[in-house]
Amino acid sequence: MASSPELQTYTHVSSEKGLSSVTTLIVGQKAAVVIDPPFLIPDARDVVSMIKDKTSNPVVAVFVTHHHPDHYFSANPILEAFPEAKFYAHPYVRDGIDREYDEKVVYWPKVFGEENVPTNPRKPDVYNYSFFILPGDEASPVALLGPVQGDSIDHTLFWLPRERVVVTGDAVYARSTHAWVEEIETADILHAWNLTLLLIESLNPAKIIAGHIEQGWEFDAKKDMEHMHKYLDLFEQKITNARKKPTVEELFETFKTAFPECVKNLDFFLGHLSNNFGEGGKVWEENRHHNVAGRKRDTLEGFLLGMGASK
Ligand SMILES: [Zn+2]
Repeated sequence: MASSPELQTYTHVSSEKGLSSVTTLIVGQKAAVVIDPPFLIPDARDVVSMIKDKTSNPVVAVFVTHHHPDHYFSANPILEAFPEAKFYAHPYVRDGIDREYDEKVVYWPKVFGEENVPTNPRKPDVYNYSFFILPGDEASPVALLGPVQGDSIDHTLFWLPRERVVVTGDAVYARSTHAWVEEIETADILHAWNLTLLLIESLNPAKIIAGHIEQGWEFDAKKDMEHMHKYLDLFEQKITNARKKPTVEELFETFKTAFPECVKNLDFFLGHLSNNFGEGGKVWEENRHHNVAGRKRDTLEGFLLGMGASK
């Protein structure tokens, strides 16, 4: 059994307008799985073409790593192209979708047009298992690790232990791209995200498929993790632990200068960052559905056992 070929992974990078989010295709002997459909309909159509180009195996499931719209909103074209596919997320991801769905389905079509964003994105069904196995690939289970903190609460990581590939969703941004840190409201949330990075590194993955990368860039596990550490460390220094609240302009310039290779969607990533945390900035109140600040370390890091135990 162990001599069966390894699972193959392929990625599709969405357009700049679609925030360069990453969709992953896992292809086994007889079936395929998709992780994180794109934000926008044209990108999802490209994903369908990519799948048909890579495999004739049926897509049996589409999974979602976290509740952000750029990771599930345009699942519909993929599910229509592969009507046998289940649409799944862990229950805490579905809860996050439910909390903000009604507002997001009104907001995003207004921004991008109904030809680009579905007004009725399908919601994933709850997946209650901590792993899955594809037919003929019993030697290559895929583990779902979560909930863990990423750029938002309650992410699932998808870990292929045999292939040593991890699909992180927005727990990791590739080095081409600014990270979405607007929801890192407290030191506890930041700590939990750093712990997720440590968990990913402890897996010793050969390949890390991040949640966002610009077209034309390649994933690089070491460099992308260095980028994430640098990003969160700068965030901690300039925002979480700042003695004096910087201005909106100072924050925008600080992050723009620190990451000169990240040139796309600055208004979205840095605009929200600097407005949310800068003096005099305008907070994106409509994006606050998850009581992020109410999450403390005992729940964020409840998987840490025996930390208070005496030796
Ligand atoms: Zn994202």
